[in-house]
Amino acid sequence: MRAHNFGAGPCTLPLHVLEETRDELVDFRGAGMSLLEMSHRSDTYDEVHQGTIDTLRRVAAVPDQLHILFIQGGASLQFGMVPMNLLDTGMQAGYLLTGSWAKGAFEDADLVGDAYVAWDGSVGGFTAMPGEDEVEVRPNTRYVHVTTNETIGGIRLPALPNVGVPLAADMSSDYLTRPIDWDRFDVVYGGVQKNLAPAGLSVVFLRDGAVSETARQLPRYLRYEWHVTGNSLANTPPMFPIWVMGKVLADIEATGGIEALEDRTRAKAERLYRVIDESDGFYRNPVEQRSRSHTNVVFRLDSPELEAEFLEETLRNNMIGMKGHRSVGGLRASLYAALELESVVALAELMEDFAVRHRS
Ligand SMILES: *Cc1c(COP(=O)(O)O)cnc(C)c1O
Repeated sequence: MRAHNFGAGPCTLPLHVLEETRDELVDFRGAGMSLLEMSHRSDTYDEVHQGTIDTLRRVAAVPDQLHILFIQGGASLQFGMVPMNLLDTGMQAGYLLTGSWAKGAFEDADLVGDAYVAWDGSVGGFTAMPGEDEVEVRPNTRYVHVTTNETIGGIRLPALPNVGVPLAADMSSDYLTRPIDWDRFDVVYGGVQKNLAPAGLSVVFLRDGAVSETARQLPRYLRYEWHVTGNSLANTPPMFPIWVMGKVLADIEATGGIEALEDRTRAKAERLYRVIDESDGFYRNPVEQRSRSHTNVVFRLDSPELEAEFLEETLRNNMIGMKGHRSVGGLRASLYAALELESVVALAELMEDFAVRHRS
């Protein structure tokens, strides 16, 4: 039986994508070998590679002015690559400190360039995102960095801030779960393992001409231009996640595209928030209403003992991965793209039932 996978990443993938991958694995379309054994310079792989790029461009409605890049090292490497490639001498970058991941991005930017905090959510315990006009932008700001969804705190940016400069975004944990207003961004990045594919790859969207002069001094792998020129084939790319992501994107396209995925994601989240809000405080979500994440629903119960008992019960019911992040505790249900609504309904019913049985 397939588990209900509420883990925060890597994510559940569509079952038919896994089955298709299995069926094609050993002998890829009659080639006499697996795609995983093939040259990344072969025509066969090239078709897969370009196919994934083309599908992505279509599905996410990416304008021609943005390059699509496949880079290893996850979102974590992009924490450094973004400032290294975009910040010219004399320029600085503003960061919205919205949670653990934004903090990581800011710390790395601060190491390699001139970065400042343009909005600080730590004072509120990272339970809300900034309003559109709350961000303070200093002179000579090259970009303002946002994290559209904080995976650990369970908060989601409801609207892009008005900043008057280009935005840079980490979209790892809500990648493609809503349309992207491309005009606002010079760079968008994310690890694909939260929503779209197996781990090993980040997808970077880079505006043509966005890189600085000083980026020429970087070692090649860290230089965006190197990946642009090579069409993400300058060196051996992670062929497996690129291949599987092509299938996942085709699945998103076939099921109504990003708009439909946005609706499905919202419906899944609303089902759980409804249980929380109607539980008379048995379950508590600390997040300000408008900042509630659609992909990571965090909640607490009255005591760590009760939380442990709840967690036990989810596991007995084949629901996996609901322990909150070790830094914050509590519980978390991650609702990534391929998680079926029926899994969410099963969890919601278990939550309702558990509350009835344990309400004092
Ligand atoms: C998981 C996550 C990261 C780190 O991603 P890696 O691909 O593991 O480096 C960064 N940002 C956000 C928002 C995440 O959820």
